[in-house]
Amino acid sequence: MQPKDTTDNEAFKGFTNHECPFMPCHKGVKREFNCLFCYCPLIAYECPGPYKVFIDANGMRRKDCSGCNLPHNGIKQSWNFIQKWLEQPVLWDGKPQTRFQVDLPEEAIPDYRPRTP
Ligand code: SF4
Repeated sequence: MQPKDTTDNEAFKGFTNHECPFMPCHKGVKREFNCLFCYCPLIAYECPGPYKVFIDANGMRRKDCSGCNLPHNGIKQSWNFIQKWLEQPVLWDGKPQTRFQVDLPEEAIPDYRPRTP
């Protein structure tokens, strides 16, 4: 049992920093903005986000996550999303995003995802 399992208080799942000068740092967030994952825990792992790949000054392949709002779109939703993808993390291989359909809980389905016909 983890500490989070001993309480009904879900404040640990996130917060909104209304005083942040960069708010809103990502467009398209329609739910309560979650600032907890400002530095996304999935940056080094496979994820379903719409990142673009770029080469940094040291020649390293990096994710440009400026078009992703998954870690921010709703306090509980973004918490659930991050927890799900950290259950069995897979190191990112540096390749471009090709994932279009992912198995997310209903409450964590992002708005940007293309729908299948
Ligand atoms: S694309 Fe989104 S989910 Fe993936 S690492 Fe970047 S911010 Fe996190």
